[in-house]
Amino acid sequence: MAKKALPKKMKEVKFEIDKEAFNGPFTCHKKKTVLTQKKMSVQGNVFSYSTWRCQICGEDYLDSKQAERLEMIWTFEKLMKNSLLSMKRSLNYDGKMFFLRFPKELTKDWKKGLEAEMKIIDKNKILIEVKA
Ligand SMILES: [Zn+2]
Repeated sequence: MAKKALPKKMKEVKFEIDKEAFNGPFTCHKKKTVLTQKKMSVQGNVFSYSTWRCQICGEDYLDSKQAERLEMIWTFEKLMKNSLLSMKRSLNYDGKMFFLRFPKELTKDWKKGLEAEMKIIDKNKILIEVKA
């Protein structure tokens, strides 16, 4: 028997996740996880971060803030190892200001109204974070 094909028109489903949905403590092995402090050394710099740990199986869970911090530490690590994915772009000048164009591969899911936050390391080193 042939498998049923998916309908040609798939309905786009939109939903919002409660911002509190990913906040700890979480439940593992029917018990609440416990806030645990951890440290990570990146090229001589020690970063502290926390996780929610199950006291029974030792599994660590991250809430959204913890995940964001850990992601920043990993980004810093890549930055320190100079292993961040990078792209060369020409700077454009409109007679008053400099600007740059982002490649389509990065912007295909971007929408109007997004904001960019520049994190300035020095006047020639700038990280850009695009936020909704
Ligand atoms: Zn567990």
